[in-house]
Amino acid sequence: MISKRIRTLAPYKTETTGARVRLSSNELSLKLPEEVKRLIGEAASKIPFNRYPDPEARELKEAIAYRFGVNPENIVLGNGSDELIYYLSIAVGEYEKGVFYPVPTFSMYGISAQVLGREKIEVSLNDEFDIDLQKSLELIRDKKPVLAYFAYPNNPTGNCFNEDKMRTIRDEGVFTVVDEAYYHYSGKTFLKEALEREDTVVLRTLSKIGMAGLRVGILIGKEEVVREINKIRLPFNITYPSQVIAVLMLRDFYHIIEEAIQRMLSERQRVYEEMLKLEGIRVYPSEANFIFFKSLYFSGDELYRRLLQKGVLVRNFSYMVANCLRVSIGEREENDAFLQALHEVLTTY
Ligand SMILES: *Cc1c(COP(=O)(O)O)cnc(C)c1O
Repeated sequence: MISKRIRTLAPYKTETTGARVRLSSNELSLKLPEEVKRLIGEAASKIPFNRYPDPEARELKEAIAYRFGVNPENIVLGNGSDELIYYLSIAVGEYEKGVFYPVPTFSMYGISAQVLGREKIEVSLNDEFDIDLQKSLELIRDKKPVLAYFAYPNNPTGNCFNEDKMRTIRDEGVFTVVDEAYYHYSGKTFLKEALEREDTVVLRTLSKIGMAGLRVGILIGKEEVVREINKIRLPFNITYPSQVIAVLMLRDFYHIIEEAIQRMLSERQRVYEEMLKLEGIRVYPSEANFIFFKSLYFSGDELYRRLLQKGVLVRNFSYMVANCLRVSIGEREENDAFLQALHEVLTTY
C-alpha cells in the first residue's frame, strides 16, 4: 500500500559506527564551561513540558533575528533546515514542475522532491565543482523547473558556486533557495537578495555552529514569502527544550559559539596545509567546516576502511564522486588523530 515514490527511496544514511574520533557529520564541537552547563540545566528544569511550546517560537526568532541581522518577520523556523527544505518543495510551484539542483550535493533536495512525486532535475558539476552553466540552461529550458536548490558552500565539495551563474539560472524564472548552512565558515551570503526579492530565500541552521542536537533551521525571506511558508509549518515544530536552550546560547553565551567558530577556521587552515603535504591524496579548498579529498593510491572505500580501523570515522562519498571522502574539522586533538591516521595509512599501503 506504500507508494512507489516511497518504496524506491533510499533511506537517509548516517554512520552510527562507534569510532574513537568521529569526523563525519560536520558538527562543531563546543567546550561548555561547567557553569554554563549548570545554567542550562537550571533553565531546562524549569520547562513546563506538560504544556505545548510557543507555536511561533517568538523569543527564539527574536534571538536569531538579532544575531543574524534581520527582522523576526523575515524568518520561518524549522525542525532543522531539513524540515524547511520539505516545506519549500511543498510550497513552491505545482508538483508537475520539477526541482533543479547541481550534483553532487546535499541529499535532502532530491529526497524531498521524490517524496512529493516531483521530477528531480540534476546537473553534474564541472571539474572545478562549479555549476556547468551551459548544461544547466539547456536542461532548464527543456524541463522548466520552478525551484532550484544551491548549497552555498556546497556539501560535500566545500566550495561556493559562482554567484553570477546562480543568478543567471534564477533569471530563467526559477525560485532560488540558497542553502547557507555553512555561512559562518564562508562569510558569503545572498541575504540582501532574499530580503528584497520574492524569488529568493536563504536557509541557515544552528546545526553547524554547535547546536545540531537542538534541531533549529532558519528560512530567511521577504515577509510575503515567509507568511505563505508559515501556513504549512507544523504548529509546534520547535520543541520546548530546543527553544529554551537555543535562546540561552544565542542570547547569553554566543561568545562561546563565536570562539568555537574562530578555532574551527584556524584548524581548517592548519589541517588543509597538513593534508597538502601528504602524498596519495588530492585535497580541495574549503569554505565550510569540512574538507573534501580524493584518494589516489587506493579506492576511497579502502581508505575509508583503513581510517576506521585506526579509530577515525570520516564520511565516504565514493558512491557519489569516485574515491572521494569528506572529513569534518573537529577539535585540535581530533584533527591530529585524523592527520596521524591518514599519514600512517598513506605511507604503509
Ligand atoms: C547539514 C546541512 C543541512 C542540514 O541542516 P539541519 O538544520 O541540521 O537540518 C542543510 N543543508 C546543508 C547543505 C547541510 O550540509
